[in-house]
Amino acid sequence: MAKVSINIATGSLLQEEIIVGIDLGTTNSLIAIVKSDTHEPIALREIDGLTLVPSIVHFDEYGNVTVGNPAKDLLVQQPERTIYSAKRLMGKSYGDVSKDSGFFAYNIIDDGTDALVKVQVGDKFYSPIELSSYILKELKKRAEHILKTTVTKAVITVPAYFNDAQRQATRDAGRLAGLDVLRIINEPTAASLAYGIGVKHNEEKTIAVYDLGGGTFDISILTINNGIFEVLATNGDTYLGGDDMDNAVVRYWQEDCGVDNSSLGLGSHTDKSLAQEMRVTAEAAKVHLSTHDVFEGKIAGQDVRITKQDFNELIAPLIARTINSCSSALKDAGLTASQIDAVVMVGGSTRVPAVKEAVKQFFGREVFDGINPDEVVALGAAVQADILAGNNTEMLLLDVTPLSLGIETMGGLMDVLIPRNSKIPNKAGRQYTTQKDGQSGMRISVYQGERDLVQDNRKLAEFNLTGIPAMPAGLPKVEVTFLIDADGILKVSATELRSGVAQSIDVQPQYGLTDQQVEDMLLASLTHAKDDIKMRALVEALTEATQMLEVTEKFIAKHGDVLSPVELTASVTQMERLREAMESRDKDLVQSETERLNEVSRPYAERVMDAALKDAMRGKKVI
Ligand code: AMP
Repeated sequence: MAKVSINIATGSLLQEEIIVGIDLGTTNSLIAIVKSDTHEPIALREIDGLTLVPSIVHFDEYGNVTVGNPAKDLLVQQPERTIYSAKRLMGKSYGDVSKDSGFFAYNIIDDGTDALVKVQVGDKFYSPIELSSYILKELKKRAEHILKTTVTKAVITVPAYFNDAQRQATRDAGRLAGLDVLRIINEPTAASLAYGIGVKHNEEKTIAVYDLGGGTFDISILTINNGIFEVLATNGDTYLGGDDMDNAVVRYWQEDCGVDNSSLGLGSHTDKSLAQEMRVTAEAAKVHLSTHDVFEGKIAGQDVRITKQDFNELIAPLIARTINSCSSALKDAGLTASQIDAVVMVGGSTRVPAVKEAVKQFFGREVFDGINPDEVVALGAAVQADILAGNNTEMLLLDVTPLSLGIETMGGLMDVLIPRNSKIPNKAGRQYTTQKDGQSGMRISVYQGERDLVQDNRKLAEFNLTGIPAMPAGLPKVEVTFLIDADGILKVSATELRSGVAQSIDVQPQYGLTDQQVEDMLLASLTHAKDDIKMRALVEALTEATQMLEVTEKFIAKHGDVLSPVELTASVTQMERLREAMESRDKDLVQSETERLNEVSRPYAERVMDAALKDAMRGKKVI
């Protein structure tokens, strides 16, 4: 059922819900949508004509927050109150970032409790999640202003190398900003989506995404097969980008052209405004040289000049570093440059002609650079949002399972067949057997979740496989298969392989499950991880003990006559001891008593086997 919302500005009813795509960048962020009439992705543009919102947050002494360009203007005057590059801190502990702390002009503190970094501004402390949420709030506000409707749902991109904690932090930032984050997707995946590479059915492609921004460089090697993106390798440098080119130009003017050296200010703040002017002019020169051969300008009344050739020489070592990373990534992926089917350019610095040329030469092919490299990631996120909204059926729905899927095994344990974050569609199977002699049915209970005991997970379905022909315990081979199709429907089937009896059921794992519930379930699995491991070990010990008791009982019933009364008493006593140990639920005790019962009964079993062997050999010739 489509949701209906009211456009407050016009009073009209909107049938379609808007899901926005957001590129939450280190330097700049932006928001994009797919236009409902033309189905074309566009970056949202404010009246000022700008799409990029600098990822900078300023707090004044009263705690008022400013985001974007107005905050950027305060970077030089109030460095301790103006926070940039918060993305570099997402999901990180102080230990993770302490070696980079020289990069940050603001105060990063280690609060010692949850070990995650916080930023101190005046007497207030902000987590990177809060800082990012201010940027997201600003983007949401802009989108609502431009679209004249409320925006509550989003797809947000993250670097391919982000770990679970960093992805979770990004989700939390979205939630804090009042956004329901439907999906976190990888930036290189989004860029490929924007170009529509590999998203048609039955298409298989290997792609390199070269992303050179203001302060970071990433190279990702991906494969796309049937609409499923897989990251094969990533490499890069978290402190390499257009800013380094600007700094190189500043140094060139200082060293070769004699622009006042004492006012360098890069970190020293001797003359902040002159240093800032030099940086701004250097960036302008760089941008100018992307389309011209010479730049001429003035800094503090003094003429400065740089040619394209000089600039290219200055940045050659920087470009060489990115190409080295490309080599390493290819090596990690086990590929050669000629095996790459498409190269996608992302990030403002890929506009530099020398960068483009080096990448073309390395991969030996033309590159995809037709889409604005600052916007391509957000546009791809919007394409993904459009697919999620069900407006785009041409492209496959790219998805992964948010939670693990499995069945209940003995002792109420969860046996995972498809782990969480597995690609969809997917298939997995495993063989099981019966516990009892002559068991004719088997109950298959399907669960979803990360906990070790099924009672803590979510039950999806249950069915009975009946008609298994009578066989001793352990002999039937029941193959359970999980198959998730491209629509996310899970088909569970069970087949007894010896007899061919089979049964199956269809379930919708995501049915009725909100994003919040998925997150809660994941969180619970982390909180209970230690207890769960202990509990699983106990349940396994109890299961083994039960099996040992059953085997011994069966043995005594069948072969009791070969045991002496003393031996019989020893067995029964040890069985009783094991039962007591099981009641105590002490894992170590259960294990040691099980082992003891095994020791007591093993000699009798061997004796019976020998007798059976002698019986079998009687009257037969041995060669
Ligand atoms: P991003 O982090 O992707 O927004 O990229 C920002 C970087 O791209 C900054 O260092 C900009 O100076 C740089 N940039 C933007 N436009 C150009 C251009 N036309 N030529 C060279 N560099 C550019």
